[in-house]
Amino acid sequence: MALEERPDAKLDRAVIFLGPPGSGKGTQAKELAKAYGIPHLSTGDMLREHVSKGTTLGLQAKPIMERGELVPDSLVLKMVAERIERPDCSHGFMFDGFPRTVTQAKYLGELLKQHGFHQPLVLHLVIGSSVLMRRLTGRRTCKVGGEIYNIYERPPKVEGICDNDGGELFQRPDDREDVIRERLHAYEKQTSPLVQYYRRLGFLHDIDADKSFEEVKQRMFESLAGIGGVR
Ligand code: AMP
Repeated sequence: MALEERPDAKLDRAVIFLGPPGSGKGTQAKELAKAYGIPHLSTGDMLREHVSKGTTLGLQAKPIMERGELVPDSLVLKMVAERIERPDCSHGFMFDGFPRTVTQAKYLGELLKQHGFHQPLVLHLVIGSSVLMRRLTGRRTCKVGGEIYNIYERPPKVEGICDNDGGELFQRPDDREDVIRERLHAYEKQTSPLVQYYRRLGFLHDIDADKSFEEVKQRMFESLAGIGGVR
């Protein structure tokens, strides 16, 4: 039976999606989290929510995010620690956009230990840089449900309108070409050392992300099933 049809599939693990902006990690993480019935934790989404609500954290993070730089660890780590305390995280969760630095990864390792979880499973999306720019400049997000489209590769049925709930689609302000370059630069500099860190620990599973959405999704399911996360 396909994994999507197995309501008993459980992970009880923390899964990390690692990959540059535009690798499809957000869309895939949402799909997999839904299939396993565990929360999809996107630190980018959490921060954007703080920004739109105008919280103290949001006010601090806003200018940093607009420049495409990383928000300081002190702010992000507190936000993450509070989130995984919630009861919906007791059977695992999928991180999208976190950790972004080796410091964040070490902190996460400690947090997981404190909460009685195994070490994380890391799905590393591998993709060429020329594909990324096209994906990012084409990305559109639904204002209502957050569904992600791509005007080139995964367009909505009606331009500018979400297939699911009819919500208006918008382009994130940090998906402009100049900001994208800064974000890719930040990824190279700060996040790619994480790949080495998790590879050395043996937690890393490479996934070729330069394939269709469905193919990549299937490979992720296989990786998760193959490493014994499903019981
Ligand atoms: P994302 O939606 O994951 O592309 O994140 C959008 C922006 O939020 C990033 O460019 C950063 O400014 C900020 N951000 C998200 N996650 C983190 C994190 N783990 N550490 C630092 N900054 C983050």
